[in-house]
Amino acid sequence: MLKFSPILLAILYALAMYRFSAWRTARELDSRSTELADAKLKRLTDRMAASLNLDRIRINIYEIDPVNGLAAPDGRIFITRGFYRKYQNGEVSAEELASVIAHELGHVALGHSKRRMIDFSGQNALRMAMIMLLNRFLPGVGVLIANAVTSLLAAKLSRSDEYEADAYAAALLTKAGIGVAPQISLFHKLEELTQSRSGAAPAWLLSHPKTTERVAALEALQSRWTPTPQE
Ligand SMILES: [Zn+2]
Repeated sequence: MLKFSPILLAILYALAMYRFSAWRTARELDSRSTELADAKLKRLTDRMAASLNLDRIRINIYEIDPVNGLAAPDGRIFITRGFYRKYQNGEVSAEELASVIAHELGHVALGHSKRRMIDFSGQNALRMAMIMLLNRFLPGVGVLIANAVTSLLAAKLSRSDEYEADAYAAALLTKAGIGVAPQISLFHKLEELTQSRSGAAPAWLLSHPKTTERVAALEALQSRWTPTPQE
């Protein structure tokens, strides 16, 4: 009989997990989304598309309530119904919604959405291998150590992705003539929403780093790109 080592088992497990989660994500999104047709928003996404030398940027509406934007591993961009409703109510402007689309485009362009899924299954595999090894010496505690190490790693990885996607969005919005201001004002709006109603924090903020730090990073980019008037 073949004797699998824990490491090999963990690798096989990671591969299976990756395949399965990619398939499940695509299936869930397919069954609950439609292409968005919004003339005002399209004018903005067309400007971004022109900056990227693309014919157009296709946006899909994902029929769930939480306020969120998503980039699927296959490169499709989704805005949730809940987020779109905020725009329809006038709580969020078209430019602000365009900044979310630009951010998600950043995740796609920089390969984050695909890698994140690989990271996710890779982290599970690493966790399993660590548990198998550590439990021999530290029964019970091994699980805790393995969980702590992998969640730390995941937080560090996603944090840098978010700053990169923000910077990509800032560059694209600047090139398209929309500017960085809507990106910053949206962060403040979502932050207010988080504070005013407890338990109703927008999902898009929860999965991202601190708003104040993101705004500071954007303002640093903005001041570097905006030439100071010469006297
Ligand atoms: Zn993000």
